[in-house]
Amino acid sequence: MSDIPVRLAEVKHAIAEAARAAARPADAVTLVAVSKTFPAEAIEPALIAGQRVFGENYVQEAKEKWPALRERHPGVELHMIGPLQSNKARDAVQLFDVIESLDRTSLAKELAKEMARQQRRPTLLVQVNTGAEPQKGGVLPEQVDAFLAECRDQHGLAVSGLMAIPPADEPPAPHFALLTTIARRNGLAIVSMGMSADYQQAIAMGATHVRVGSAIFGARG
Ligand SMILES: *Cc1c(COP(=O)(O)O)cnc(C)c1O
Repeated sequence: MSDIPVRLAEVKHAIAEAARAAARPADAVTLVAVSKTFPAEAIEPALIAGQRVFGENYVQEAKEKWPALRERHPGVELHMIGPLQSNKARDAVQLFDVIESLDRTSLAKELAKEMARQQRRPTLLVQVNTGAEPQKGGVLPEQVDAFLAECRDQHGLAVSGLMAIPPADEPPAPHFALLTTIARRNGLAIVSMGMSADYQQAIAMGATHVRVGSAIFGARG
């Protein structure tokens, strides 16, 4: 656990280097530190080191860990990056500042309802299934434009960007390129892509947010 601030600093340095190499400003890329499965005791050193943007995959787990951490460390921005069940929309709107996994009509409806009810407007990203993998969430690439229009026109939701998780067994570059292309075509500012193994490449290809877990917190058990 004592390694966490060191690894965090290394990742931040690598992000700055990748941004520089791509002739992008250092602040063009936000590090989302993915703390899923790690206990509060592992997250606290990252908070003390100044990290404020975190990603979690499970609503229940986030609910158990983050209210107390937030009280001790103001200014946290929490991202939901895992598959989101519609019946968890209420908790998700309450807990998260950014929801990266909007990917279907039923969820758009529930989020719109909860955002109106709670008067809270988390930033929304649409997850894109760039590899058209059947087991994975996300809108198919050819359906993204229509889904964005549906979110806007039928559910009154402002979508700020896109997120993708490329297939584990393929080179990620074509998937990163595709996500950036779809985001630009739709005038979306946020492109969330790249994990521990490939975030430098994602930055070269236009990522504004990289989601890095194991390179900071270590291997998940
Ligand atoms: C777990 C996870 C990550 C982080 O993966 P690492 O390989 O540990 O960096 C990023 N994005 C999503 C959606 C995840 O589920």
